Amino acid sequence: MKKKVYLVQPSYRKMDRSVVKGSSMIINCTLNVPMLLPTIPDDWEIDICLESFNPIDFSNDASVVFLSTTSSDMVHAYHIAEKFKKQNKKIFFGGHSDSLSVEVMKRICDGIYFGNPDKNLMKTMLNDALNDNIKQEYHCGINIDFPFDYSVFKGQKIDHLIVVSGVGCVYNCDYCQHTVQYNKIHKQRKIDCVIADLKSIKEFAPVAAFRDSNFYNESNYVHQLCNRIIREKLNMKWGAQCPIGIGKEPQLLKKMYRAGCRMLFIGYESLNQENLKSVRKPNRVDKYKEYTKNIQDAGIYVVGYFFFGFDYDTKDSFTEVYEFVRDTKLSLPIINIYTPVPGTRLYSRLVKEKRVKLPTAQHFVESDPIYSIPCSRCHFEPLNATKRELEDGFLELYQKFTTPREILSRSKGANLQESLLLLKMNLNLRFERRKIEKAQKMRELVC
Ligand code: SF4
Repeated sequence: MKKKVYLVQPSYRKMDRSVVKGSSMIINCTLNVPMLLPTIPDDWEIDICLESFNPIDFSNDASVVFLSTTSSDMVHAYHIAEKFKKQNKKIFFGGHSDSLSVEVMKRICDGIYFGNPDKNLMKTMLNDALNDNIKQEYHCGINIDFPFDYSVFKGQKIDHLIVVSGVGCVYNCDYCQHTVQYNKIHKQRKIDCVIADLKSIKEFAPVAAFRDSNFYNESNYVHQLCNRIIREKLNMKWGAQCPIGIGKEPQLLKKMYRAGCRMLFIGYESLNQENLKSVRKPNRVDKYKEYTKNIQDAGIYVVGYFFFGFDYDTKDSFTEVYEFVRDTKLSLPIINIYTPVPGTRLYSRLVKEKRVKLPTAQHFVESDPIYSIPCSRCHFEPLNATKRELEDGFLELYQKFTTPREILSRSKGANLQESLLLLKMNLNLRFERRKIEKAQKMRELVC
Protein backbone atom coordinates (compact mmCIF):
# COMPACT_ATOMS: atom_id res chain seq x y z
CA MET A 1 0.00 0.00 0.00
CA LYS A 2 1.43 3.38 -1.00
CA LYS A 3 2.25 5.69 1.90
CA LYS A 4 0.38 8.65 0.55
CA VAL A 5 -2.52 10.67 2.00
CA TYR A 6 -4.99 12.89 0.21
CA LEU A 7 -6.36 15.66 2.44
CA VAL A 8 -9.68 16.78 1.01
CA GLN A 9 -11.77 19.67 2.26
CA PRO A 10 -15.14 19.49 0.45
CA SER A 11 -17.03 22.68 -0.26
CA TYR A 12 -20.84 22.70 -0.06
CA ARG A 13 -23.71 23.05 -2.51
CA LYS A 14 -26.01 25.98 -3.11
CA MET A 15 -29.78 25.57 -3.38
CA ASP A 16 -29.36 25.10 -7.16
CA ARG A 17 -27.02 22.17 -6.31
CA SER A 18 -23.91 23.78 -7.77
CA VAL A 19 -20.81 23.53 -5.60
CA VAL A 20 -19.70 26.80 -4.01
CA LYS A 21 -16.34 27.86 -5.47
CA GLY A 22 -13.85 30.60 -4.69
CA SER A 23 -13.52 32.64 -1.55
CA SER A 24 -15.64 35.48 -0.33
CA MET A 25 -16.88 36.73 2.99
CA ILE A 26 -19.54 34.06 2.95
CA ILE A 27 -17.33 31.09 2.22
CA ASN A 28 -17.50 28.41 4.83
CA CYS A 29 -13.80 27.74 4.97
CA THR A 30 -12.69 25.28 7.65
CA LEU A 31 -9.19 24.83 9.00
CA ASN A 32 -9.12 21.07 8.82
CA VAL A 33 -6.36 20.80 6.22
CA PRO A 34 -4.04 23.42 7.82
CA MET A 35 -4.50 21.61 11.16
CA LEU A 36 -3.83 18.12 9.77
CA LEU A 37 -0.87 18.99 7.54
CA PRO A 38 1.76 19.48 10.28
CA THR A 39 0.81 16.13 11.87
CA ILE A 40 1.47 13.89 8.84
CA PRO A 41 4.69 11.82 9.29
CA ASP A 42 7.61 12.76 7.04
CA ASP A 43 7.68 9.37 5.32
CA TRP A 44 4.17 9.88 3.89
CA GLU A 45 3.52 11.75 0.67
CA ILE A 46 0.74 14.33 0.81
CA ASP A 47 -1.70 15.68 -1.75
CA ILE A 48 -4.24 18.35 -0.89
CA CYS A 49 -7.53 19.51 -2.31
CA LEU A 50 -9.62 22.44 -1.13
CA GLU A 51 -12.70 21.94 -3.25
CA SER A 52 -13.53 25.64 -3.00
CA PHE A 53 -10.60 26.24 -5.34
CA ASN A 54 -9.85 22.99 -7.18
CA PRO A 55 -11.81 19.97 -8.37
CA ILE A 56 -11.34 16.77 -6.39
CA ASP A 57 -9.10 14.22 -8.13
CA PHE A 58 -10.89 10.92 -7.64
CA SER A 59 -8.11 9.08 -9.47
CA ASN A 60 -5.45 10.32 -7.03
CA ASP A 61 -3.06 7.47 -6.19
CA ALA A 62 -3.13 8.10 -2.42
CA SER A 63 -4.14 5.09 -0.37
CA VAL A 64 -5.68 7.10 2.48
CA VAL A 65 -8.15 9.98 2.24
CA PHE A 66 -8.97 12.43 5.03
CA LEU A 67 -12.33 14.15 4.67
CA SER A 68 -14.01 16.85 6.66
CA THR A 69 -17.25 18.66 5.97
CA THR A 70 -19.17 21.77 6.75
CA SER A 71 -22.16 21.09 8.96
CA SER A 72 -24.46 22.42 6.28
CA ASP A 73 -23.73 19.83 3.61
CA MET A 74 -22.54 16.56 5.03
CA VAL A 75 -24.40 14.65 2.30
CA HIS A 76 -22.07 16.22 -0.27
CA ALA A 77 -19.12 14.86 1.74
CA TYR A 78 -20.92 11.51 1.88
CA HIS A 79 -21.19 11.37 -1.93
CA ILE A 80 -17.47 12.23 -2.22
CA ALA A 81 -16.63 9.43 0.22
CA GLU A 82 -18.73 7.02 -1.86
CA LYS A 83 -16.65 7.80 -4.94
CA PHE A 84 -13.38 7.28 -3.07
CA LYS A 85 -14.68 4.04 -1.64
CA LYS A 86 -15.18 2.74 -5.17
CA GLN A 87 -11.44 3.37 -5.68
CA ASN A 88 -10.69 1.25 -2.59
CA LYS A 89 -9.31 4.15 -0.55
CA LYS A 90 -9.22 4.06 3.23
CA ILE A 91 -11.23 7.01 4.47
CA PHE A 92 -11.01 8.94 7.74
CA PHE A 93 -13.64 11.51 8.57
CA GLY A 94 -13.37 14.18 11.25
CA GLY A 95 -13.05 17.80 12.15
CA HIS A 96 -16.78 18.10 12.48
CA SER A 97 -18.54 15.86 14.89
CA ASP A 98 -22.16 16.64 15.63
CA SER A 99 -23.94 13.36 16.14
CA LEU A 100 -25.90 13.42 12.87
CA SER A 101 -22.74 14.02 10.78
CA VAL A 102 -21.02 11.15 12.57
CA GLU A 103 -24.06 8.92 12.11
CA VAL A 104 -24.17 9.73 8.39
CA MET A 105 -20.44 9.55 7.72
CA LYS A 106 -19.67 6.40 9.68
CA ARG A 107 -21.87 4.52 7.22
CA ILE A 108 -19.31 5.08 4.49
CA CYS A 109 -15.97 6.01 6.12
CA ASP A 110 -13.53 3.53 7.69
CA GLY A 111 -12.72 5.61 10.76
CA ILE A 112 -14.08 8.72 12.49
CA TYR A 113 -11.79 10.98 14.49
CA PHE A 114 -13.02 13.38 17.17
CA GLY A 115 -10.99 16.45 18.09
CA ASN A 116 -7.58 17.05 16.52
CA PRO A 117 -4.94 14.34 16.13
CA ASP A 118 -1.41 15.23 17.17
CA LYS A 119 1.65 13.72 15.42
CA ASN A 120 1.57 10.53 17.51
CA LEU A 121 -2.08 9.83 16.99
CA MET A 122 -1.82 10.58 13.28
CA LYS A 123 1.03 8.05 13.05
CA THR A 124 -1.17 5.49 14.80
CA MET A 125 -4.11 6.18 12.48
CA LEU A 126 -1.96 5.87 9.36
CA ASN A 127 -0.30 2.69 10.63
CA ASP A 128 -3.76 1.26 11.30
CA ALA A 129 -4.65 2.09 7.70
CA LEU A 130 -1.47 0.36 6.45
CA ASN A 131 -2.28 -2.71 8.55
CA ASP A 132 -5.90 -2.75 7.46
CA ASN A 133 -6.90 -2.29 11.08
CA ILE A 134 -8.68 1.07 11.19
CA LYS A 135 -10.74 1.56 14.37
CA GLN A 136 -14.25 2.88 14.11
CA GLU A 137 -13.45 5.85 16.35
CA TYR A 138 -10.36 7.82 17.39
CA HIS A 139 -10.75 10.23 20.30
CA CYS A 140 -7.91 12.66 19.83
CA GLY A 141 -8.64 15.34 22.44
CA ILE A 142 -7.79 18.98 21.89
CA ASN A 143 -4.37 19.39 20.30
CA ILE A 144 -4.04 22.93 19.07
CA ASP A 145 -0.72 24.09 20.50
CA PHE A 146 1.22 24.12 17.27
CA PRO A 147 1.23 26.57 14.36
CA PHE A 148 -1.12 25.49 11.57
CA ASP A 149 0.10 25.25 7.99
CA TYR A 150 -1.62 27.96 5.98
CA SER A 151 0.53 27.37 2.89
CA VAL A 152 -2.45 25.52 1.37
CA PHE A 153 -3.97 28.93 0.63
CA LYS A 154 -0.95 30.15 -1.34
CA GLY A 155 -1.91 31.67 -4.67
CA GLN A 156 -5.63 31.89 -3.87
CA LYS A 157 -7.55 35.11 -3.86
CA ILE A 158 -8.95 35.19 -0.35
CA ASP A 159 -10.50 38.08 1.52
CA HIS A 160 -10.29 36.58 5.00
CA LEU A 161 -8.83 33.56 6.74
CA ILE A 162 -9.81 31.78 9.87
CA VAL A 163 -7.65 31.64 12.97
CA VAL A 164 -8.20 29.84 16.27
CA SER A 165 -7.30 31.10 19.75
CA GLY A 166 -9.23 28.47 21.66
CA VAL A 167 -11.89 25.78 21.50
CA GLY A 168 -14.89 25.03 23.66
CA CYS A 169 -16.97 27.43 25.70
CA VAL A 170 -17.46 28.25 29.37
CA TYR A 171 -21.22 28.31 28.85
CA ASN A 172 -23.61 25.48 28.35
CA CYS A 173 -26.52 26.56 26.14
CA ASP A 174 -29.05 23.81 25.43
CA TYR A 175 -29.17 24.36 21.67
CA CYS A 176 -25.42 24.47 21.08
CA GLN A 177 -23.38 21.72 19.44
CA HIS A 178 -20.24 22.81 21.27
CA THR A 179 -21.74 21.90 24.64
CA VAL A 180 -22.15 18.35 23.34
CA GLN A 181 -18.61 18.22 22.02
CA TYR A 182 -16.78 19.93 24.89
CA ASN A 183 -19.22 19.94 27.85
CA LYS A 184 -18.10 23.31 29.26
CA ILE A 185 -14.43 22.43 28.81
CA HIS A 186 -12.49 25.07 26.98
CA LYS A 187 -8.85 25.35 26.07
CA GLN A 188 -7.02 28.50 25.10
CA ARG A 189 -4.20 28.10 22.65
CA LYS A 190 -0.62 29.15 23.33
CA ILE A 191 -0.39 32.79 22.31
CA ASP A 192 2.84 32.11 20.37
CA CYS A 193 0.89 29.75 18.08
CA VAL A 194 -1.88 32.28 17.48
CA ILE A 195 0.67 34.96 16.63
CA ALA A 196 2.49 32.58 14.27
CA ASP A 197 -0.81 31.84 12.51
CA LEU A 198 -1.72 35.51 12.23
CA LYS A 199 1.67 36.16 10.61
CA SER A 200 1.03 33.32 8.13
CA ILE A 201 -2.47 34.58 7.38
CA LYS A 202 -1.09 38.05 6.68
CA GLU A 203 0.73 36.60 3.66
CA PHE A 204 -2.48 35.35 2.08
CA ALA A 205 -5.39 37.47 3.30
CA PRO A 206 -5.86 40.98 4.68
CA VAL A 207 -8.37 40.02 7.36
CA ALA A 208 -8.46 37.31 10.04
CA ALA A 209 -11.60 35.87 11.57
CA PHE A 210 -11.30 34.14 14.95
CA ARG A 211 -13.33 31.00 14.63
CA ASP A 212 -13.52 30.28 18.36
CA SER A 213 -17.09 29.58 19.43
CA ASN A 214 -16.41 31.99 22.29
CA PHE A 215 -13.45 34.34 21.88
CA TYR A 216 -14.19 35.78 25.35
CA ASN A 217 -13.85 32.59 27.39
CA GLU A 218 -11.12 34.23 29.49
CA SER A 219 -10.89 37.99 29.73
CA ASN A 220 -7.27 37.82 30.86
CA TYR A 221 -6.30 35.71 27.85
CA VAL A 222 -7.90 38.24 25.46
CA HIS A 223 -5.95 41.04 27.21
CA GLN A 224 -2.69 39.14 26.78
CA LEU A 225 -3.38 38.20 23.18
CA CYS A 226 -4.19 41.79 22.26
CA ASN A 227 -1.10 43.10 24.11
CA ARG A 228 1.00 40.74 22.04
CA ILE A 229 -0.66 41.65 18.74
CA ILE A 230 -0.06 45.34 19.51
CA ARG A 231 3.54 44.71 20.57
CA GLU A 232 4.29 42.68 17.45
CA LYS A 233 2.80 45.47 15.30
CA LEU A 234 0.85 42.93 13.24
CA ASN A 235 -1.30 45.70 11.88
CA MET A 236 -4.12 43.40 10.80
CA LYS A 237 -7.88 43.73 10.97
CA TRP A 238 -9.85 40.93 12.58
CA GLY A 239 -13.20 39.91 13.98
CA ALA A 240 -14.46 37.34 16.49
CA GLN A 241 -17.55 35.72 17.98
CA CYS A 242 -18.30 36.72 21.57
CA PRO A 243 -21.11 36.64 24.08
CA ILE A 244 -22.65 40.06 24.76
CA GLY A 245 -21.01 40.04 28.24
CA ILE A 246 -17.83 41.38 26.65
CA GLY A 247 -19.67 44.71 26.48
CA LYS A 248 -19.13 45.20 30.21
CA GLU A 249 -15.39 45.70 29.64
CA PRO A 250 -14.84 49.06 27.89
CA GLN A 251 -11.08 48.99 28.57
CA LEU A 252 -10.67 45.58 27.00
CA LEU A 253 -12.78 46.66 24.02
CA LYS A 254 -10.54 49.68 23.46
CA LYS A 255 -7.49 47.44 23.58
CA MET A 256 -9.10 45.04 21.11
CA TYR A 257 -9.67 47.95 18.76
CA ARG A 258 -6.00 48.95 19.05
CA ALA A 259 -5.08 45.35 18.25
CA GLY A 260 -7.12 45.46 15.03
CA CYS A 261 -10.55 44.18 16.08
CA ARG A 262 -13.20 45.83 13.95
CA MET A 263 -16.15 43.48 14.16
CA LEU A 264 -17.75 41.32 16.84
CA PHE A 265 -20.38 38.71 16.11
CA ILE A 266 -22.69 38.67 19.11
CA GLY A 267 -25.24 35.97 19.90
CA TYR A 268 -28.17 37.95 21.34
CA GLU A 269 -30.39 35.03 20.24
CA SER A 270 -33.58 36.40 21.83
CA LEU A 271 -34.97 39.56 23.40
CA ASN A 272 -37.10 37.53 25.78
CA GLN A 273 -35.40 36.65 29.08
CA GLU A 274 -37.67 33.64 29.58
CA ASN A 275 -36.56 32.25 26.22
CA LEU A 276 -32.92 32.60 27.23
CA LYS A 277 -33.59 30.98 30.59
CA SER A 278 -35.37 28.08 28.91
CA VAL A 279 -32.24 27.26 26.87
CA ARG A 280 -29.72 28.14 29.61
CA LYS A 281 -28.24 31.08 27.74
CA PRO A 282 -26.69 33.35 30.38
CA ASN A 283 -27.41 36.65 28.55
CA ARG A 284 -29.12 39.54 30.35
CA VAL A 285 -31.59 41.24 28.05
CA ASP A 286 -31.70 44.32 30.31
CA LYS A 287 -27.99 44.88 29.55
CA TYR A 288 -28.18 44.39 25.78
CA LYS A 289 -28.40 48.07 24.83
CA GLU A 290 -25.75 49.31 27.28
CA TYR A 291 -23.24 46.61 26.35
CA THR A 292 -23.86 47.01 22.62
CA LYS A 293 -23.19 50.73 22.90
CA ASN A 294 -19.94 50.08 24.78
CA ILE A 295 -18.73 47.84 21.95
CA GLN A 296 -19.68 50.37 19.30
CA ASP A 297 -18.14 53.26 21.30
CA ALA A 298 -14.84 51.39 21.16
CA GLY A 299 -15.05 51.60 17.34
CA ILE A 300 -16.11 47.98 16.80
CA TYR A 301 -19.02 47.06 14.52
CA VAL A 302 -21.60 44.67 15.91
CA VAL A 303 -23.21 41.85 13.94
CA GLY A 304 -26.10 40.36 15.90
CA TYR A 305 -27.44 36.79 15.74
CA PHE A 306 -31.11 36.14 16.53
CA PHE A 307 -33.14 32.96 16.62
CA PHE A 308 -36.90 32.64 16.28
CA GLY A 309 -39.00 29.75 17.48
CA PHE A 310 -37.99 29.42 21.13
CA ASP A 311 -40.87 28.58 23.46
CA TYR A 312 -41.79 32.15 24.46
CA ASP A 313 -41.62 33.58 20.95
CA THR A 314 -44.84 34.84 19.44
CA LYS A 315 -45.51 36.44 16.09
CA ASP A 316 -44.71 39.79 17.74
CA SER A 317 -41.11 38.75 18.38
CA PHE A 318 -40.17 39.75 14.83
CA THR A 319 -41.20 43.38 15.36
CA GLU A 320 -39.29 43.51 18.65
CA VAL A 321 -36.10 42.33 16.95
CA TYR A 322 -36.59 44.76 14.06
CA GLU A 323 -36.88 47.68 16.48
CA PHE A 324 -33.93 46.50 18.56
CA VAL A 325 -31.65 46.24 15.51
CA ARG A 326 -32.73 49.70 14.37
CA ASP A 327 -32.43 51.32 17.83
CA THR A 328 -29.02 49.84 18.60
CA LYS A 329 -27.72 50.52 15.08
CA LEU A 330 -26.38 47.02 14.58
CA SER A 331 -24.26 46.75 11.45
CA LEU A 332 -25.83 43.50 10.36
CA PRO A 333 -28.59 41.29 11.75
CA ILE A 334 -28.27 37.55 11.13
CA ILE A 335 -31.60 35.87 11.72
CA ASN A 336 -32.62 32.23 11.60
CA ILE A 337 -35.56 30.12 12.61
CA TYR A 338 -34.14 27.78 15.23
CA THR A 339 -33.25 24.40 13.69
CA PRO A 340 -33.10 21.53 16.19
CA VAL A 341 -29.65 19.95 15.89
CA PRO A 342 -29.51 16.24 16.75
CA GLY A 343 -27.29 15.60 19.75
CA THR A 344 -28.13 18.86 21.55
CA ARG A 345 -30.17 18.92 24.75
CA LEU A 346 -32.82 21.12 23.18
CA TYR A 347 -33.26 18.68 20.32
CA SER A 348 -33.66 15.80 22.79
CA ARG A 349 -36.26 17.78 24.75
CA LEU A 350 -38.25 18.52 21.59
CA VAL A 351 -38.13 14.85 20.60
CA LYS A 352 -39.33 13.90 24.10
CA GLU A 353 -42.17 16.40 23.83
CA LYS A 354 -43.01 14.89 20.43
CA ARG A 355 -42.46 18.24 18.74
CA VAL A 356 -39.82 17.07 16.26
CA LYS A 357 -39.22 13.83 14.41
CA LEU A 358 -35.87 12.11 14.60
CA PRO A 359 -34.43 11.78 11.09
CA THR A 360 -32.40 8.62 10.63
CA ALA A 361 -29.03 8.80 8.91
CA GLN A 362 -30.56 6.70 6.11
CA HIS A 363 -33.44 9.15 5.71
CA PHE A 364 -31.03 12.05 5.76
CA VAL A 365 -28.81 10.70 2.96
CA GLU A 366 -31.80 9.74 0.83
CA SER A 367 -33.56 13.08 1.19
CA ASP A 368 -30.24 14.81 0.33
CA PRO A 369 -30.91 18.18 1.92
CA ILE A 370 -28.65 20.93 0.66
CA TYR A 371 -27.22 24.10 2.02
CA SER A 372 -29.99 26.21 3.48
CA ILE A 373 -28.76 29.12 5.47
CA PRO A 374 -30.49 31.19 6.68
CA CYS A 375 -32.83 28.61 8.14
CA SER A 376 -36.16 29.93 6.96
CA ARG A 377 -38.17 26.76 7.60
CA CYS A 378 -39.60 25.64 10.89
CA HIS A 379 -38.80 21.95 11.45
CA PHE A 380 -40.59 21.49 14.78
CA GLU A 381 -43.81 22.46 16.52
CA PRO A 382 -43.40 25.89 18.15
CA LEU A 383 -45.37 26.62 21.35
CA ASN A 384 -46.73 30.15 21.01
CA ALA A 385 -47.00 30.55 17.26
CA THR A 386 -47.80 28.27 14.38
CA LYS A 387 -45.11 27.05 11.98
CA ARG A 388 -46.67 29.18 9.27
CA GLU A 389 -46.67 32.29 11.47
CA LEU A 390 -42.98 31.77 12.16
CA GLU A 391 -42.07 31.25 8.52
CA ASP A 392 -44.15 34.18 7.28
CA GLY A 393 -42.97 36.47 10.08
CA PHE A 394 -39.40 35.48 9.33
CA LEU A 395 -39.66 36.31 5.62
CA GLU A 396 -41.41 39.58 6.38
CA LEU A 397 -38.62 40.58 8.76
CA TYR A 398 -36.02 39.61 6.17
CA GLN A 399 -37.77 41.83 3.66
CA LYS A 400 -37.84 44.73 6.13
CA PHE A 401 -34.14 44.33 6.86
CA THR A 402 -33.15 44.28 3.20
CA THR A 403 -34.80 47.34 1.69
CA PRO A 404 -32.23 49.63 0.01
CA ARG A 405 -32.81 52.23 2.74
CA GLU A 406 -32.11 49.75 5.57
CA ILE A 407 -29.05 48.37 3.81
CA LEU A 408 -27.56 51.81 3.27
CA SER A 409 -28.31 52.92 6.82
CA ARG A 410 -26.42 49.92 8.21
CA SER A 411 -23.47 50.30 5.83
CA LYS A 412 -21.94 53.44 7.31
CA GLY A 413 -18.38 52.71 8.36
CA ALA A 414 -15.60 54.86 9.77
CA ASN A 415 -13.94 54.98 6.34
CA LEU A 416 -14.66 54.00 2.76
CA GLN A 417 -13.07 50.57 3.04
CA GLU A 418 -15.12 49.63 6.11
CA SER A 419 -18.31 51.05 4.58
CA LEU A 420 -17.76 48.91 1.49
CA LEU A 421 -17.27 45.82 3.64
CA LEU A 422 -20.50 46.52 5.54
CA LEU A 423 -22.30 47.15 2.27
CA LYS A 424 -21.07 43.86 0.87
CA MET A 425 -22.25 41.97 3.95
CA ASN A 426 -25.63 43.68 3.92
CA LEU A 427 -26.10 43.13 0.19
CA ASN A 428 -25.45 39.47 0.80
CA LEU A 429 -28.42 39.52 3.15
CA ARG A 430 -30.55 40.83 0.28
CA PHE A 431 -29.23 38.06 -1.94
CA GLU A 432 -30.21 35.49 0.72
CA ARG A 433 -33.68 37.01 0.87
CA ARG A 434 -34.19 36.27 -2.82
CA LYS A 435 -33.27 32.64 -2.16
CA ILE A 436 -35.80 32.42 0.66
CA GLU A 437 -38.54 34.02 -1.45
CA LYS A 438 -37.82 31.63 -4.30
CA ALA A 439 -37.87 28.61 -2.00
CA GLN A 440 -41.14 29.77 -0.46
CA LYS A 441 -42.73 30.17 -3.90
CA MET A 442 -41.59 26.68 -4.87
CA ARG A 443 -43.16 25.27 -1.70
CA GLU A 444 -46.45 27.03 -2.41
CA LEU A 445 -46.47 25.61 -5.95
CA VAL A 446 -45.86 22.11 -4.64
CA CYS A 447 -48.45 22.31 -1.81
S1 SF4 B 1 -22.27 30.90 24.47
FE1 SF4 B 1 -22.32 30.30 22.30
S2 SF4 B 1 -20.66 28.81 22.06
FE2 SF4 B 1 -21.06 29.03 24.25
S3 SF4 B 1 -22.45 27.35 24.73
FE3 SF4 B 1 -23.69 29.17 24.32
S4 SF4 B 1 -24.17 29.08 22.11
FE4 SF4 B 1 -22.48 27.65 22.51
